[in-house]
Amino acid sequence: MNLFSLKAKQVFIILLICISFDVDCKWINHSFEVMGTQSNIEFEVPKMKMASNTLQRVIDEMHRIDALMSPFKPTSELSKINRLASTHPVHISKELYDLLVKSTEFSKLTEGAFDISFSSVGYLYDYRKSVKPTEKQIEELKKNINYQSIKLNEDNQTVEFLQPLVKIDLGGIAKGYAVDQCIQILKDSGIVNAYVSAGGDSRIIGKKDDRLWYIGIKHPRDKRKLLVNLPLEEVSISTSGDYERFFVKNGVRYHHIIDPKTGDSARELQSVTILAPSSTTADALSTSVFVLGLDKGLKLINGLSDISAILVDSQGRLHYSDDIARLK
Ligand code: AMP
Ligand code: MG
Repeated sequence: MNLFSLKAKQVFIILLICISFDVDCKWINHSFEVMGTQSNIEFEVPKMKMASNTLQRVIDEMHRIDALMSPFKPTSELSKINRLASTHPVHISKELYDLLVKSTEFSKLTEGAFDISFSSVGYLYDYRKSVKPTEKQIEELKKNINYQSIKLNEDNQTVEFLQPLVKIDLGGIAKGYAVDQCIQILKDSGIVNAYVSAGGDSRIIGKKDDRLWYIGIKHPRDKRKLLVNLPLEEVSISTSGDYERFFVKNGVRYHHIIDPKTGDSARELQSVTILAPSSTTADALSTSVFVLGLDKGLKLINGLSDISAILVDSQGRLHYSDDIARLK
């Protein structure tokens, strides 16, 4: 679809919303597919005439980040790194460099539970086609999962892999980053009340019609149900679940969150929800805690200020970080 027809479509949708909500309409709602998932944007505009342009900038930003960081698009900068960084240092954009630095910081914080080089094995899973790597492939490739093999050189802004078969994937942090970027665009445009989500990563600012926002956490085993519906304000909320991308083979659930130690799916929890000031942090920590499991995961979160967690264990039982447990 070209940009003109996309813009025309957005304007049409906004007009439709305005007509259906009568003259006083100020809320813009839009959903679209990006990064292999659904993104929802909702914001209140002080002046209707700014709605179309602001919405388009947010949509463009999501697609820009997808084009830069997708491991599935051969033209992305991330794909270029995966092709070349095993042979020599690759100069990359400041934006991608900074996100690689941030990813490495989360690896250190989580003692390797968060590791973008999980993809050295992870790329061999295809959840839609129920395909997984063989035991032999996992054994051979597992040694390439090690964030310390990702050498970042700040002076030259380069990345180099110190092992020959390393692959990286930002799926555990890029959606959160994209949500933060979009919220910044909305704030810079003067928007005070907004909700932006990409898959399981959301962030809210301000209020919804003078009330708190309500964000639901999906039940990990029943799509029709919500586990909880939380009244929230000025926060990011990310959920990682074993029900998002998975298949079951011989009674074993294979899903998209990989334990870097085994190259296999992490199975101690069914879902992890993190509340944090930024969506990048919430996203990275939801993936991390999923890998760490119940005890180590809660210990990590309880040691961090401004971060809360709601976990569902393998038996479907709920667990909370200390700050939430104290409220109950
Ligand atoms: P999320 O959707 O935030 O739960 O993250 C899941 C995504 O993170 C997966 O689809 C992978 O792209 C990526 N991922 C899986 N395992 C890990 C890991 N151990 N560390 C970092 N990223 C991961
Ligand atoms: Mg995540």
